[in-house]
Amino acid sequence: MRVDGAAVGGFDEAFDYVVVGSGAAGATAARALASTGRSVCVLEEGPAVDPNAFGDRSWDAFKTMFRDANAQVARGRAFIPGIQGRVLGGSTVINSAIVWRAPDDVLAEWAALGLGDALPARELHRHWDAIEKDLDAAPTPPEVWGGFNRRMHEGALKLGVRAEPTRRFVKDCRATARCLTGCPSGAKRSMLTTYLPQAEAKGALIVTGAEARRIVVKEGRAVAVTGRLAGPGRPAFRAAARRAVVVAASAIQTPQLLARSGVRSPHLGAHFMGHPGTPLTGYFDAPERLWRGATQGYDAVHHRRDGRFKIETIALPPEIVFARLPGAGRRWKEMMALSGQTAIFAVQTRAWAEGTVRERPWGTDIAYDLTRRDMMQIRRGLRFTAELFFAAGAKEVWPGIYGLPERLLPGQEALFEHGPDDPGCYSWILSHLFGTARMATRASAGVVAPDFSVHGVSDLVVADSSLFPTNLGVNPQHTIMAVARHCAERLADRRPR
Ligand SMILES: Cc1cc2nc3c(=O)[nH]c(=O)nc-3n(C[C@H](O)[C@H](O)[C@H](O)COP(=O)(O)OP(=O)(O)OC[C@H]3O[C@@H](n4cnc5c(N)ncnc54)[C@H](O)[C@@H]3O)c2cc1C
Repeated sequence: MRVDGAAVGGFDEAFDYVVVGSGAAGATAARALASTGRSVCVLEEGPAVDPNAFGDRSWDAFKTMFRDANAQVARGRAFIPGIQGRVLGGSTVINSAIVWRAPDDVLAEWAALGLGDALPARELHRHWDAIEKDLDAAPTPPEVWGGFNRRMHEGALKLGVRAEPTRRFVKDCRATARCLTGCPSGAKRSMLTTYLPQAEAKGALIVTGAEARRIVVKEGRAVAVTGRLAGPGRPAFRAAARRAVVVAASAIQTPQLLARSGVRSPHLGAHFMGHPGTPLTGYFDAPERLWRGATQGYDAVHHRRDGRFKIETIALPPEIVFARLPGAGRRWKEMMALSGQTAIFAVQTRAWAEGTVRERPWGTDIAYDLTRRDMMQIRRGLRFTAELFFAAGAKEVWPGIYGLPERLLPGQEALFEHGPDDPGCYSWILSHLFGTARMATRASAGVVAPDFSVHGVSDLVVADSSLFPTNLGVNPQHTIMAVARHCAERLADRRPR
């Protein structure tokens, strides 16, 4: 059953499990818990948006489905947009549905931290198998590559580097290049169209427009979630949890909710990690039809280990592409006219940087600064990206980096390695987020214990990437879902209190 919190008064009800957040982690946990026959309530702060209402305008999507209308930023030497969904289905509604399992070397790092039993590779692979089957994971077929994905294919073949069609949770993609504003054809297998309705079918209650403000802890146990509904006067609600509260509000909101609820740890809100991404534009002498093709259909992982970066194709809405073009007035218009002959490849870096997330009186405060090592690997990634473009036949590469020429010609790729060290000279996005309530065997080293409960508080469980002890270097949704599924199974096996 689904309730629109914007249209009802307050409520006070009890459930076996209360799940905060309906994104990759929350929906997966809710579905798994509802499958056990126990009662589940999912609290989602954002609205439920009908997929038939998805349009192609960025601003319309930003104001209804994105956190802070997509104006959330991390501050540091650069302001880095921290992009998140705030909608039923969370960021899976606006993401590109790219599927990667956490690499073995990353799982080995987790095991070396003593978490091999808590996050066992064998179990995670079992979950990945099941999720891939449920959500139709498959490589992007050539029929929907369009020009820009094909360019990476051609460039990688020519350079002889490892790159492949991106595996995605998509069935019958129509190549609309509109993942970011919500898939208009229903092809993307987001939580909105898969695990959430399945959880509902198994009896879960989903309340949208329901912001969890506090977890009520009594005698060391989480017993309820209280908060405010979106309707007039913001009525209060209370959802009591007989068995557990599962927090899956994302690596930015989870630490704030825990802190507000009285959880204290020097690691809470610390160790904020991500994969900052920065784009390059390649200019070709023929139309590329940037707005026709799978949004992100090809990626190059050749330097994932030795360079800690991965290159992805991406189609962005025209207004965002135009905003990134250099120049003003007539020159800007000329660049716009040329943009039909461009493709965009983005460098995603497994950054070393760690930042903090804190709740302040004015809202969320994310402090995050890339390190010198990060900037070195990013510059190397940009050079490699330019090489891919030129190998694919690009006539020019447009860096969009302050301090470098507006247009680079073949043979000038090395300039990237001598580019500015200041992250403020580049444009960024940050959408893969980790670590703000990290799991550790001891309370002195982290917030979440190996059984997924917050150290020192029973029945308060964290299921999202806040608990990840390191970042991944590959797209996180699949690993977040596998970890949430594993967490829910362990929880369901626990004896009731
Ligand atoms: C534009 C974009 C593209 C991406 N592309 C990919 C991709 O192709 N592949 C990939 O692997 N990853 C991708 N990601 C990242 C991936 O989507 C996220 O890592 C993943 O969805 C995070 O899962 P989550 O459950 O932790 O958070 P989310 O999916 O963000 O869900 C959290 C939910 O909790 C809700 N919430 C927060 N606080 C509260 C509260 N107090 N009360 C009630 N509800 C609350 C939020 O409104 C939100 O709906 C992308 C992300 C973005 C933004």
